[in-house]
Amino acid sequence: MGSKTRSTNRHKSKPLPLSSLEDSRETPWTIEDSEKLYRIQGWGEPYFSINAAGRVMVSPQGDRGGSLDLYELVESLRQRNLGLPLLIRFPDILADRVERLNACFSRAIARYNYPNTYRGVYPVKCNQSRHLVEALVEFGKPYHFGLEVGSKPELAIALATLEPSSPHATAPLLMCNGYKDREYIETALLATKLGHFPIIAIEQLEELHLILEIAKKLEIPPVLGVRAKLSAKGSGHWGDSTGDRAKFGLTIPQILAVTTHLQREGMLDSLQLLHFHIGSQISSISTIKDAIREAAQIYGELVNLGAKMQYLDVGGGLAVDYDGSKTNFYASKNYNMQNYANDIVAEVKEACEEREIDAPILVSESGRAIAAHQSVLIFDILGTSDVSPELPPTVEGKEHLILRNLWETYQTLTPENYQETYHDAIQFKEEAISLFSFGYLSLQERARAEQLYWACCQKILDITRTQDNVPDDLEDLEKNMASIYYANLSVFQSAPDAWAIAQLFPIMPVHRLNEEPTQRATLADLTCDSDGKIDRFIDSRNAKEILELHSLPKSEPYYLGMFLVGAYQETMGNLHNLFGDTNVVHIRATPTGYQIDRVVKGDAIADVLSYAQYDPEDLIENIRRLTENALQDRRLTLEDAQRLLQNYEKTLDRYTYLS
Ligand SMILES: *Cc1c(COP(=O)(O)O)cnc(C)c1O
Repeated sequence: MGSKTRSTNRHKSKPLPLSSLEDSRETPWTIEDSEKLYRIQGWGEPYFSINAAGRVMVSPQGDRGGSLDLYELVESLRQRNLGLPLLIRFPDILADRVERLNACFSRAIARYNYPNTYRGVYPVKCNQSRHLVEALVEFGKPYHFGLEVGSKPELAIALATLEPSSPHATAPLLMCNGYKDREYIETALLATKLGHFPIIAIEQLEELHLILEIAKKLEIPPVLGVRAKLSAKGSGHWGDSTGDRAKFGLTIPQILAVTTHLQREGMLDSLQLLHFHIGSQISSISTIKDAIREAAQIYGELVNLGAKMQYLDVGGGLAVDYDGSKTNFYASKNYNMQNYANDIVAEVKEACEEREIDAPILVSESGRAIAAHQSVLIFDILGTSDVSPELPPTVEGKEHLILRNLWETYQTLTPENYQETYHDAIQFKEEAISLFSFGYLSLQERARAEQLYWACCQKILDITRTQDNVPDDLEDLEKNMASIYYANLSVFQSAPDAWAIAQLFPIMPVHRLNEEPTQRATLADLTCDSDGKIDRFIDSRNAKEILELHSLPKSEPYYLGMFLVGAYQETMGNLHNLFGDTNVVHIRATPTGYQIDRVVKGDAIADVLSYAQYDPEDLIENIRRLTENALQDRRLTLEDAQRLLQNYEKTLDRYTYLS
């Protein structure tokens, strides 16, 4: 079998400086090189870019407003005693997303002459943080933008946050999804009396009887929806959110049972909405089209059956282009927001015209596409660890043969022989280890053998990076040689989906982008868990196993940003190793720059301890008792006892991350 090769065009844009290869004439690194490398235009436009100083710029109002230097912002927040990791939210981005979504639907409606309107809702589960939901309700007002809830606590948020409005025509929708008990249904129906406009989606057949019973007792006519299990299927992680085995929704026979029952009760008028949700992050527009087409037919049938249908709710699924590749790769999407709106509007219009029925009000429940862009997690790098030595040890004539062999291998390595030489180096290293095991090499000699081996690998890696194709057997070299960068964060708290479902987020330095990133690294977090790492990074419709980073300066901090983390990550994070919530700030753009709108301090150590049912007072008391005993036995001086107690108490007030 011939040796297979693989194209590695990701390293082609500009090879690394090859200290050992004389003929590499480099042009200086530019911010354009960084743009290409970190793909920032693909995933970041119009909010994130790189400025002439080589730093990430944030334009919270897209192309309509000013911009700010993210590095300077982080520095000034640190001067205000806000430690890293730090989650920075830009409510202006949230406003822009809401505006954009509504603008896309209104353009589509105008373009296709759609005879009805769009009325979006935000699904609270995507990010329930109070300040975010409040901001969203505020920004959504001009569009009568509503909320979608899937549980009693979310219903509680929506009832108190949405602004009721008495003519129903202008009230934002309150979509009530999820499993429902008596209390949920009663609360939702009574909300009508406050001026809210709840629509209760039937997800389970049993709910129908309960809803009708409660509605009768309260004498509140319900507005009902049915959630359909479509047969059109998504792909990727959430592909099973629909289809016959889906957790939620009604099959077609069940939907017919609902209409039959409602008709018998003389309540068919109350059925006004058809809902479906085929899963989150749908990367392919054709999946969306299939679903809309199927749903539009079901909608038409429900009209024919006599339901007073008014709304077609297309659920969530509008994807975010995390890798900027504009493809149907799972971390991307092969359509934009306008294509999405166009297809929904056009498909529904066509289906309704064919059937000669009134076109519905279109509802969508986009969470990810609205909330993802507004948060950036900033964290610093605490240190690094490398396999290859900065300089290989030199070997003299009289040293052990195996060391001389490795030294010669290192010195005679060229672009012509690197593939065979790699195998020689492996063989010599293995020999060195077995010599050591039999007592023929000292610990110092073994250390030198290992260093020489890694020096060979480094040189070979430098050569492969200049090649168009990398032989198969050298493919893993890049990953095996990667440095480990220790990141001041917990993946479980701040990017749980990176761990749980292999989600990709764009990660890049926020400064030094006019400097060449000469290191290849993976990230390790603070937790004592081997899963607490990030070793998959965005690439063009693929994931790469290393991230290009700068070498760590001795004294200055090195800041990385993890972008597009506003959807799901904050709310699904957990307290692994008791690393708590991070500090959060809200930054609003002003005509002259920006202002810090809100600061939400992250958990202190005492907070996370109390989540695990420890009482900080009791803990301190226990330590005090132990120090008293130690004092009595003269194991501790009074001074040290005081120092220990004070440190202990101070620690409880501290941020859970490293400072
Ligand atoms: C989660 C969920 C959404 C949000 O989906 P996104 O893909 O984040 O837009 C919408 N509707 C329902 C019913 C959901 O469960």
